[in-house]
Amino acid sequence: MGKRIYLSSPHMSEEGFERKYVEEAFDTNWIAPLGENVNKFEEELAEKVGIKSAAALSSGTAAIHLALIAAGVGEGDKVFCSTLTFSASANPIIYQNAAPVFIDSNYETWNMCPDALEEAFKKYPEVKAVIVVHLYGLSADMDRIVELCNKYNAVLIEDAAESLGTYYKGKHSGTFGDYGIFSFNGNKIITTSGGGMLISNHEEKVAKIRFWATQSRDQARHFQHSELGFNYRMSNVVAGIGRGQLKVLNQRVGKKKYIYEFYKRELEGLEGVTFMPVNDWDEPNYWLSAMTLTGEVRPIDIFEALEVENIESRPVWKPMHMQPYFEKYDFVGNDVSEKLFVNGVCLPSDTKMTNSDLAKIVEIIKRLWCKQ
Ligand SMILES: *Cc1c(COP(=O)(O)O)cnc(C)c1O
Repeated sequence: MGKRIYLSSPHMSEEGFERKYVEEAFDTNWIAPLGENVNKFEEELAEKVGIKSAAALSSGTAAIHLALIAAGVGEGDKVFCSTLTFSASANPIIYQNAAPVFIDSNYETWNMCPDALEEAFKKYPEVKAVIVVHLYGLSADMDRIVELCNKYNAVLIEDAAESLGTYYKGKHSGTFGDYGIFSFNGNKIITTSGGGMLISNHEEKVAKIRFWATQSRDQARHFQHSELGFNYRMSNVVAGIGRGQLKVLNQRVGKKKYIYEFYKRELEGLEGVTFMPVNDWDEPNYWLSAMTLTGEVRPIDIFEALEVENIESRPVWKPMHMQPYFEKYDFVGNDVSEKLFVNGVCLPSDTKMTNSDLAKIVEIIKRLWCKQ
């Protein structure tokens, strides 16, 4: 059997950029904490996405947590959150003893449905913050979402963990809200092994977030703390990997797009297949290629057929309002996200795949339709 093909695995640059920055950290003994790589990674990422300020953190989850704190979310507050997402979008709401209200998707974007969001605002006009997710690198419908958040005075946090390299109407994903967050976890479009970034145009808030992330140490010779602190900063070694990876982001997006278009061309004609929507205002990073199946062939048939050949594929995220841990919280919407989950398939989207890997995957999948 051939070597395993992954959904999305780490892909370091051929040029060895990451190694060079990590070696610099070793050579100068700036292993930890902070240092040149952290500062430069923040600057380089901020410039890349077009934002004033960025804070490098230990994970995307930590970034969401600190964004909620910056938004003033605390005990008893309500926070709207996309339901079709990874649990890391919602967990920090619970860390703050606040209550999520989950918002359904629409078929046009697979992301937060603005109509459901509006309905939720009418029900809970006092809501503090909204966490909108850009699933698989597809943009949510930001014009309407921003407008609603402004109207109801809610802080907008963009969970752009999956959408680094995505543009909505020419502007980078994560820069529309008050705060945006990225993740550099192992399977993301670029990775530092683990890590995250918070971005914002509120520079003083980002400075505050760096302060909270380093245990809230006041300016004093002794250890003095007037606020609750966290150990959420990124290390200088990890930031070196990030700087190198940032140089190949465009290349990775190019390959992810190629993979999506390959699958779409080959599979779209099959009975019941619908690919994830790419709107004309959206330039996604195509982090994962996903499709839904509404015919005879079911997602499980694809998962099993690929697994036999040592190829990884996966269902679409199971919505948060259907999760045992979160089902007691309110949900606004219909059954769109549930249908996307039940019918969804994430295809292998690893940027190291060759054309023959792709041809093989497509052939295995097509065979399932011949059996019908
Ligand atoms: C990966 C991911 C996160 C969490 O990022 P970590 O860096 O793993 O903490 C949050 N939200 C979404 C949508 C993600 O895919």
